[in-house]
Amino acid sequence: MIVVMKTEATAEHAASIVARVEAVGCKTHTIEGTDRRVIGVVGNGLALDIHQIGRMIGVEKVMPISKPYKGASREFKPDDTIVTVGNVKIGNGSMVIMAGPCSVEGRTELLEVAHAVKEAGANILRGGAYKPRSSPYSFQGLGEEGLKYLAEAREATGLPVITEVMDPALVPLVCEYADILQVGARNMQNYALLNAIGKSGHPVMLKRSFSGTIEEWLMGAEYIISHGNTNVILCERGIRAHETETRNTFDISAIPVIKQLSHLPIVADPSHAVGKWEYVGSMSKAAVAAGADGVILEVHPEPDQAWSDGRQSLKPKRFAKLVTEMRAIEAVCR
Ligand code: PEP
Ligand code: MN
Repeated sequence: MIVVMKTEATAEHAASIVARVEAVGCKTHTIEGTDRRVIGVVGNGLALDIHQIGRMIGVEKVMPISKPYKGASREFKPDDTIVTVGNVKIGNGSMVIMAGPCSVEGRTELLEVAHAVKEAGANILRGGAYKPRSSPYSFQGLGEEGLKYLAEAREATGLPVITEVMDPALVPLVCEYADILQVGARNMQNYALLNAIGKSGHPVMLKRSFSGTIEEWLMGAEYIISHGNTNVILCERGIRAHETETRNTFDISAIPVIKQLSHLPIVADPSHAVGKWEYVGSMSKAAVAAGADGVILEVHPEPDQAWSDGRQSLKPKRFAKLVTEMRAIEAVCR
């Protein structure tokens, strides 16, 4: 619910509302407006009598949050959420570039690509150590060995790292190495995983499932937020439609829709959306123009030799050119 305070209400009046609802386990977000305070309240609605809150001193009115996702909604928190990792901020109005190989393939390979993307202007290094492959016979990732290479690449370049976690039991381990956890498209509704990540408090990027509606995606975010972890970044990576020329269909409209419905930052993944490197550049630029808080791109020095997703991977030189173009579009659009 949203509690709108009277203009003349004092900080003490607001504090007593917060204390009242937090006593029954609810979480709050207070917005200090120019002429009044507004308090967003989520969780444990059964224990709260909305009319009783409405009668408390200083309260102008109480409104229910209309969406099923509460903590993820703009109604609850009108100001943008900014997720901070190291010296990088996601959601503060400037565009963040995440780049690296689909999979961590080895120490030397990762260090090479990490230095290349850093030099080209990337802000965050990506690389999968646990890979959600459609076939159990495909390369499944290097596991903890891959996490160690990512940590070494962070040391060497200063770039924070993002990597996928698929198993709730592995959340503490991956948190030790990664700055941002990635929840892949196939796990958007893996509630055991989302609960474990919520409890960890660690920054996380939640990818949209290829069959997920925007509401289902935001409900996935709500699972994480319900544990008090608001360090959630959303990622649009393409959805399944009838078209087969591209790997998925890039739902670019999800970017402004999320901006309206939610306060969470939204990152675009054109690599997985289109699946072919030829189309990645134009879709990345479109995502920047559409207002994405960041893009995540797969980069590999030898895409033909990549252990996964080579078809959609950019070579470092092409990636460097794209970074310049995206920064130019960002400068025009923001
Ligand atoms: C990936 O980022 O390499 C990946 C597997 O992405 P998705 O979950 O979007 O398919
Ligand atoms: Mn991939």
